[in-house]
Amino acid sequence: MRGKKGGLALRRESEYRKTARNRKAKEQLGVVRKRFCRYCKEGGINFDYKEIKRFEKFVSERGKILSRRYSGNCAKHQRKIAALIKRARFLALMPYTK
Ligand SMILES: [Zn+2]
Repeated sequence: MRGKKGGLALRRESEYRKTARNRKAKEQLGVVRKRFCRYCKEGGINFDYKEIKRFEKFVSERGKILSRRYSGNCAKHQRKIAALIKRARFLALMPYTK
């Protein structure tokens, strides 16, 4: 590290920016909202494969199951939703592809 004051300050600022790129720092800055799984909040999935209206929003317009990244579900509920969609597909309640 250089003894110069200006150099140090610059370095600190760049380090700050670097850390601000990670999620925790962004949350502290209020850049990203913490996302909650809606089913964890509601208290679980209390519907079955017949109620396709309730999980239709977790498939793309081409009929593919959306990833957790898009659906916002936690791993546990994403697995359950995916299983429901697959069951509904098998019973021809939902399309495999559009
Ligand atoms: Zn959940």
